[in-house]
Amino acid sequence: MISMKNLGKVYKNGQIQVEALKNVNIDIEKEEFVAIMGPSGSGKSTLMNIIGCLDKSTSGEYWLDGINISTLNEVQLAKIRNLKIGFVFQSFNLLPRITALQNVELPMIYAGVGSKERRNRAISALERVGLEKRMHHKPNEMSGGQKQRVAIARALVNSPAIILADEPTGNLDSSSSEEIMSVFQDLNKEGVTIVLVTHEPDIAEHTKRVLRFRDGFLKSDEVVKKPLDAK
Ligand code: ADP
Ligand code: ADP
Repeated sequence: MISMKNLGKVYKNGQIQVEALKNVNIDIEKEEFVAIMGPSGSGKSTLMNIIGCLDKSTSGEYWLDGINISTLNEVQLAKIRNLKIGFVFQSFNLLPRITALQNVELPMIYAGVGSKERRNRAISALERVGLEKRMHHKPNEMSGGQKQRVAIARALVNSPAIILADEPTGNLDSSSSEEIMSVFQDLNKEGVTIVLVTHEPDIAEHTKRVLRFRDGFLKSDEVVKKPLDAK
């Protein structure tokens, strides 16, 4: 699904250069569930921006779903982003004045899906995250965990190749965080590929694999040991 070969990213601001990623090699297969960890400034956001086709590397190659992203221009990049990536953010990024259902329908409006199919797909996405009973509520009538479930449903509706989540539990209390991680685990069991950034070891433990960054380098790449695996 994802393959990065000797990937590097240098930011240039006038005379100043920052090497945010250095010689990164990562392969992520379909149906994986990966956490990206590392201290502030270690390159996590830069990596997520590249995976999400929001920015490009300055060296090396990035392949997504068989496409060499490194060679695309901005217009092609935007197209791939809309087709292949479902984004989930720390602050939910829902529109406040419309219902959960309407929020989930939005990406399909941009994708040109007809109104009837839009409604059906939005409802089934809300069912997948266990929120069908709240679909006519607006974001301010929902808890943080419920808002994040709406955002996950919105990320799912165009059947992306991968869900990218940037600190998805960063604004949630621990019980809502558990709730969200169990939604991600269920989706992953259904075959959804998920990559998330987190600072919290408890959150990373719910994934299957942890990539740790430091100073722009990939420092470790470890399978998450589950209690069952240890037996
Ligand atoms: P993290 O998400 O792990 O905090 P970032 O990817 O945001 O790390 O940053 C990695 C390094 O790149 C840091 O030194 C940061 O200051 C720098 N950096 C990030 N974005 C930019 C940018 N747009 N311009 C210049 N430097 C940047
Ligand atoms: P986080 O650590 O929460 O991921 P950061 O504070 O590293 O976030 O970055 C927030 C935003 O600011 C990112 O979009 C990043 O690209 C940008 N950024 C980070 N460092 C710099 C920098 N030195 N110069 C310009 N932009 C930066």
